[in-house]
Amino acid sequence: MTRIVAGIDVGNSTTEVALAEIGRTAMDTRFLSTSRVSTTGIKGTLSNLPGILYALKEAVEQAGVSLNDLSLALLNEATPVIGDIAMETITETIITESTMIGHNPNSPGGLGIGVGHTVHIQDLVSANRGEAVITVIPKSFDFEVSASIITQAIENGVNVQGGIVQSDDGNLIANRLPRPIPLVDEVSGIEQVPMNMLAAVEVADRGQVIRQLSNPYGLATLFSLTPEETSMVIPIAKALIGLRSAVVIRTPEGDVKTRRIPAGTLKLLGVQQSITVELDGGADAIMQGRSDVGELVDVEGEPGTNVGGMVERVRCTMADVTGKSTSDVKIRDILAVDCLVPQHVSGGMAKEFSMENAVGLAAMVSTDRLLMQQLAQALTQEIGVDVELGGVEADNAVVGTLTTPGISTPLAILDLGAGSTDAALLAKDHSVRSMHLAGAGDMVTMLIQRELGIEGDGAFDVAEQIKKYPLAKVESLFHIRNEDNTVQFFPQPLDPRLFGRVALVTENGLSPIDTRHNIDRIREVRREAKRRVFLRNAIRALEEVAPLGNLRNIDFVAVVGGSGMDFELSEMMVRKLAEFGTVVGTANIRGSLGPVNAVATGLLLNYQRRIEEGRV
Ligand code: ADP
Ligand code: MG
Repeated sequence: MTRIVAGIDVGNSTTEVALAEIGRTAMDTRFLSTSRVSTTGIKGTLSNLPGILYALKEAVEQAGVSLNDLSLALLNEATPVIGDIAMETITETIITESTMIGHNPNSPGGLGIGVGHTVHIQDLVSANRGEAVITVIPKSFDFEVSASIITQAIENGVNVQGGIVQSDDGNLIANRLPRPIPLVDEVSGIEQVPMNMLAAVEVADRGQVIRQLSNPYGLATLFSLTPEETSMVIPIAKALIGLRSAVVIRTPEGDVKTRRIPAGTLKLLGVQQSITVELDGGADAIMQGRSDVGELVDVEGEPGTNVGGMVERVRCTMADVTGKSTSDVKIRDILAVDCLVPQHVSGGMAKEFSMENAVGLAAMVSTDRLLMQQLAQALTQEIGVDVELGGVEADNAVVGTLTTPGISTPLAILDLGAGSTDAALLAKDHSVRSMHLAGAGDMVTMLIQRELGIEGDGAFDVAEQIKKYPLAKVESLFHIRNEDNTVQFFPQPLDPRLFGRVALVTENGLSPIDTRHNIDRIREVRREAKRRVFLRNAIRALEEVAPLGNLRNIDFVAVVGGSGMDFELSEMMVRKLAEFGTVVGTANIRGSLGPVNAVATGLLLNYQRRIEEGRV
């Protein structure tokens, strides 16, 4: 006597189903199919129904049966953890007077670095012989006129070192000159550029970034600054990091300041004590507070501040979807991450931006079993099949993971999902300790999106792609250079639209990305985001479940969850955990599914065991 049972795992991002024919003993049990679709709505709410139905239909179709053949569906009894992420900038750069133009036009002209006094192009020919100048070219001078004036000045012996151009013709001018000089163009506010002031212009080669102007000592060298003056230009250098071109003008009163934005405080309410941390103290200070406070009961943000608003947003969203009052929504964990995000500079002349410090926060809210029961009831009505809650998510994840060939106890499991990082420890006697932490794959994606300044519709999806695939530069129509510097040749020419582009190497071929960043920068941002979220959370989670709180007491860790499919994360984890003598491997559920479907599989196996033990 066998019956067809579905195990359903509703996650923050993915709904997974496993279908099996379950018999009296494990010998009679046969897995039929699996499916994996996007979760609809927020985990643990009625809005999950459409996603569940879709996943179920896919699984029954694959198995060649129909929904009516189902005897039972088992739903994960998640301590439904719901995460939310947000980011606040905590510094801003303000320009008073015309000190800096650090903007990134698409195609600056020329190459190199030039230093001299600013001279209007109409006064260029009358400049002194041998004088080092940077010429300032308003739009009213077209590229041919500008080029011929500069050429004439150079022939007269004026040392034209570079130019600041209002139009976007930097390249057209540069191409018409007897020798290459750097020209920064698209400077809209050119009338604000002061004349007869010492200025430096730097343009880097394609795919490169400026080096002198983004380095305080480079600025000190160019402008002969004293040590005291050098410390004043650090914000300028900081604002110019990562750009392909920039201008810095030294004016007597000009000033660039980095101001800290009062970002507010977070109050961490623990069981024993409460700790208040300043958001602008950065992620380390916040996480130290998080660790000191022990078990977290709730978090409050200072009213009237950015972080206060953010915490309230989390609470309101959760109250809305769960039908609870905001005061009943409790934040049970937070993860803070430092990052640098591009922001527009106030007072800038050419819409320039600066890299500002920001803090990303992931918050986790626990809801209750009641909500999952409501969902189970609604599903029963929808499909006309009994639906039960099939036990705690972590217990099921453990049992599912144990189907990995070669695995044994004691074993720690890390479930790296979209919203939360969950850990479970399975002792030799098969007792399970588990815990949930805020922050996982979605947080990594948000960091990538914000740090690379990806904007517009679908920005999150672009960042999600960047997270999942390695990069390559299309150097010719017949070869690419991978991010690890290896070169790959193609017998057929590539799509000409790929030429010179940065692309993702996906299973469906090269997918170009629209970015002004070079490969190194994107790669660094991508890897750093993974480190800050996953490595930090892995350590936090394992320390929590490890015997005596010591990671060294864990010999083996198996990774499950969607983020376990990441192409570089496992290598990063292996290196990090090797410091503690811990070995990490990616689970291979049922010997063939890789790290996914652990919970859905576990739901079915646990049910099978209950049958064998006569408990069903
Ligand atoms: P949940 O259980 O929270 O629904 P999953 O276990 O399905 O989450 O994992 C979803 C996460 O896995 C998402 O953040 C997604 O970006 C990530 N993910 C899925 N595939 C990959 C991949 N190939 N590389 C890196 N991350 C991936
Ligand atoms: Mg999950």
